[in-house]
Amino acid sequence: MAYVVVDTCTKDNLCVDACPVDCIHPKQDEPDFEAATQVWIDPEACIDCGACIPVCPSNSIFILEELPADKAEFAAKNAAYYGK
Ligand code: SF4
Ligand code: SF4
Repeated sequence: MAYVVVDTCTKDNLCVDACPVDCIHPKQDEPDFEAATQVWIDPEACIDCGACIPVCPSNSIFILEELPADKAEFAAKNAAYYGK
């Protein structure tokens, strides 16, 4: 199981600051930040701690099992950002 970010993300990076294992990218100081449509969670590095969910103002982070059906594609999209 991993956590998944969907396309309602506004890239405010609040979850990035909350994540204890640095598995949410791109960060605001990384080269691909401007071009990114949203941030992405590395599904292998995520430790499922849940710290990112309450800080997200747009409710854009889901546990994989609770990903809405119309957002199902984002599980693969998060993994793809990391080449996984
Ligand atoms: S669940 Fe925890 S480890 Fe996974 S992305 Fe969120 S804050 Fe990071
Ligand atoms: S806190 Fe939510 S809106 Fe902000 S970058 Fe993370 S997923 Fe996107």
